[in-house]
Amino acid sequence: MAARHIPHTMRKLIGTKLSPNFREATAIVEAPVPQPGPSEVLVHNRFVGINASDINFTAGRYLPSLEAPYDVGFEGLGEVVSVGADSKLKIGQPVIYAKFGAFADYKVVSSKSVIPVPSAKPEFLSLIVSGLTAALSLDKIGEIKKGENVLVTAAAGGTGQFAVQIAKEAGCHVIGTCSSDDKVKFLQTIGCDRPVNYNKESLKEVLKMEYPDGVDVVYESVGGEMFDLCVNNLAVKGRLIVIGFISGYESATGFKPSRTATLPTKLLSKSASVRGFFLNHFWNDAGPVMAKLVQQVLDGKLRVSIDKGENTNHGPFTGLDKIQDAVDYMYSKQNKGKVIVELISEQSKL
Ligand code: NAP
Repeated sequence: MAARHIPHTMRKLIGTKLSPNFREATAIVEAPVPQPGPSEVLVHNRFVGINASDINFTAGRYLPSLEAPYDVGFEGLGEVVSVGADSKLKIGQPVIYAKFGAFADYKVVSSKSVIPVPSAKPEFLSLIVSGLTAALSLDKIGEIKKGENVLVTAAAGGTGQFAVQIAKEAGCHVIGTCSSDDKVKFLQTIGCDRPVNYNKESLKEVLKMEYPDGVDVVYESVGGEMFDLCVNNLAVKGRLIVIGFISGYESATGFKPSRTATLPTKLLSKSASVRGFFLNHFWNDAGPVMAKLVQQVLDGKLRVSIDKGENTNHGPFTGLDKIQDAVDYMYSKQNKGKVIVELISEQSKL
């Protein structure tokens, strides 16, 4: 096994109890740096990505048998620093991966699960969960077609920004919801045809007046009243993709019930459907889609907004100690694009 100089210990963020309150549920500890097995590699994390579901994970909603202490974090980008005997990856290769326990200085990942990327740019990290979710779900579950209307909720967020651009690329008309004028401006820069700041305009009125025949596809990640409103405004044969329901995640139950009793009538009367999408069920389809997304980023055809919290009091998000601040930042609805925490800067590597 070839290796670079690697310390014996590292820091990582762990869950110390189960709670949707991420700050209360997590703490930083010292731990031994793990050793890769024969078909694994050790990645020195440079960036880690924040996801809305980080708090679902600490609440115990992902793994029913989860008990403290447990590792947290879904995705990382870093450099391969040690490889197992059977791994063909080279030391120094920048890679991205999606694996539980990414919020650590170093992470062991199976060679098959890491995806080599051209450079250690955080834009590539944002593709593995946020980008793939948008690309795969709009195609396989939303079945978007040229000329259709697509409504994207939380459109200026980590995955929303991809949904907007991918639907535009497919020739759709895109409506995007967000909570500020600053985000409206951002949505205009990525091609959103009709950004709606729901704090200023009533989405219900906009849909009624400007889209009287309804919307063909909804990329819905907010839940609660937003879900109800979207169902009510589906077109004949419309498809609503359930991406998430962030408005409920901070609550103890994790779910804000909507008026599901009337759902059968609403769907039947329009031959419409509500369909779920969970990325973990689609990894077998991810390879070619990821290759396309990486190329589009390289070609400048896919614009990725990375938000390291530079403009907030607790930012920029640099170091493991800032992960809790980064999660709070996302839940304060301020982020534009993908929230990322930088663990080691290019400077400190020299
Ligand atoms: P994000 O969109 O970067 O950030 C969350 C955004 O949601 C906020 O900026 C805010 O934007 C909006 N929001 C609306 N209501 C909110 C509320 N009550 N509390 C907090 N935020 C609220 O986050 P993300 O990680 O990309 O996740 C977005 C959604 O996609 C989540 O529902 C997540 O679970 C889902 N997701 C699902 C999958 C899957 O496999 N199904 C994969 C990735 C993500 P505005 O203020 O502009 O509305």
